[in-house]
Amino acid sequence: MDGCARGGPLFTFGVIADIQYADIDDGYNYSRTRRRYYRGSLQLLGNAQESWSGSAVKPAFVLQLGDLIDGFNKCSGASDRALDAVLTQLGCSPLEVHHVWGNHELYNFSRSSLLGSRLNTSLLGGGSPGAARPGSDIYAYHFSPVPGFTFVVLDAYDVSLLGREESSEEYLRARALITQHNHNQDLNCPPECEGLQQRFTMFNGGFSKDQLDWLDSVLSAADEKQQRVTIVSHLPVHPYSTCPICLAWNFDELLAVIRSHSSVVCVMAGHDHDGGYYHDEDTGVHHLTLEGVIETQPDSNAFGTVSVYEDRMVLKGSGRIPDRVFLFPRRHSDTDDRAV
Ligand code: ZN
Repeated sequence: MDGCARGGPLFTFGVIADIQYADIDDGYNYSRTRRRYYRGSLQLLGNAQESWSGSAVKPAFVLQLGDLIDGFNKCSGASDRALDAVLTQLGCSPLEVHHVWGNHELYNFSRSSLLGSRLNTSLLGGGSPGAARPGSDIYAYHFSPVPGFTFVVLDAYDVSLLGREESSEEYLRARALITQHNHNQDLNCPPECEGLQQRFTMFNGGFSKDQLDWLDSVLSAADEKQQRVTIVSHLPVHPYSTCPICLAWNFDELLAVIRSHSSVVCVMAGHDHDGGYYHDEDTGVHHLTLEGVIETQPDSNAFGTVSVYEDRMVLKGSGRIPDRVFLFPRRHSDTDDRAV
């Protein structure tokens, strides 16, 4: 019985990932297998906004899944200018944007400056200072656009070599962790050519115990209220939803938290520009990795619009993003409703 999907959606939202804008000529990824359209990415962002603004049901918000501007901006001293260009473009539409931080945010800016910047959207959507965060410099928060639905923005670089002072305790702890697994001189070079160990590179990171404990408590409250939770993270956390080189360092610990709660329905990530998807049948959770704008040809697109219903979310993809349906796992109360 899928009656809920026949009426209009409860709300919709937009998703877009890895814009990586820079005012430089096109280039290639590290392995020179994919072209990167550094200037063109701004136009593709504009296409997405135009589509969202023109849609019959206006999105309640947009999720920007991280890597808004490219690390090359830092090399040329253009970080602020590039960020301004992208935020000006985003400002052309009144849509509320929730920003996730990726490695490229941290190549361009320190963690402390990001916290004081327009890329800190933790107070949007009813967030309250102090109450909704796991720690003073961890960028994670949750918001509820519509009763019954919660979105949790995670900080996948809370444990990382990026964005922190090299003398800080957090940096030294992250360095100790990565060097247990990666003995290369260049820590951006993966320790192995295949398998899950590839993830221990400097362009990835992980979630601290403080953040995992905080997530656990957010999900406990959501379980209690029978909410549907979508988790958003720059780094994918399910090995079958991405190439393993893009996984979060402690993806397994995050999956364990998710598995211990009934409220999570979807995890959305970026970082792997090829995208990916896996439906974990054990938990019913859908793991989506969104294709990146930066490696999308200028005559195509890479954004999605998600319509949310009582029993599912429907992703309408544009350009190289495929359409998908994320059915929610059944709950005991759903069965009861059906029986009445
Ligand atoms: Zn990334």
